[in-house]
Amino acid sequence: MVVLAAPSGGGKTTIANELRRRRPDIFGYSVSATTRKPRAGEQDGAAYHFLTREEFRRRVQAGDFLEWAEYAGELYGTLRAEVERVLASGRHVVLDIEVQGAQQVRRAYPRPASVSIFVIPPSPRVLIERLRKRRTESEQELLERLAIAVREVETARTDVPTRRVFDHILVNDDLDTAVNRVIELADAADGAKPGPDMTPLLAAFVKELEREADQLRQSARRST
Ligand code: ADP
Ligand code: 5GP
Repeated sequence: MVVLAAPSGGGKTTIANELRRRRPDIFGYSVSATTRKPRAGEQDGAAYHFLTREEFRRRVQAGDFLEWAEYAGELYGTLRAEVERVLASGRHVVLDIEVQGAQQVRRAYPRPASVSIFVIPPSPRVLIERLRKRRTESEQELLERLAIAVREVETARTDVPTRRVFDHILVNDDLDTAVNRVIELADAADGAKPGPDMTPLLAAFVKELEREADQLRQSARRST
């Protein structure tokens, strides 16, 4: 199981899509369920299984989810059936999930059954630029996602010394390099050597992201 977690805009969907495109023989994607509305171009059953809140709750009660979490007011979850479908085909299953979900998966699939990778862009400014360019959120939603991102990167920072949840921190600068690294880590599973200590980088990232998000909040307030 290959878990990709990242702040929104970190690039996990892009990396997951590239893995499937390049190596469909070794990577399959678990299509999550969500209560959020589809974005333009998102197909039901491909990007997500789009469910109503009632249907999602019903499936939680039925035990259909391996993990689920609330993110920015919407529910997201990994369906056991999706994971089993991919694993049964003899491929790695790629999960693109937020941090609370990654914590749950780690408990259910301890190392080496899963490799868990936290992905960040090279800087908070690049993160914000990429989110803006994606054009999928309103300014208010973007601010909410940045506030969540601060907490997520902080969680990853405190996790580094114990590696309780994340095995690796991956900087998604050049896409090709990032995708190759994920392939390497998936192949090596528990055998991959941990890289350099990423604590200082993550600490600086959190500080800078807080500053950038604060500035954006203030300018949003001024313009209303
Ligand atoms: P996430 O799924 O983590 O929210 P996405 O995969 O949607 O993030 O990526 C956010 C935006 O950044 C997308 O528009 C994507 O095309 C772009 N992006 C992702 N990785 C890179 C990269 N390495 N270089 C440039 N742009 C990237
Ligand atoms: P988005 O709305 O941008 O598609 O996703 C919002 C967040 O929910 C992202 O961090 C994404 O990775 C996460 N997410 C997507 N599917 C799942 C899932 O099945 N479980 C959990 N816990 N998070 C998910």
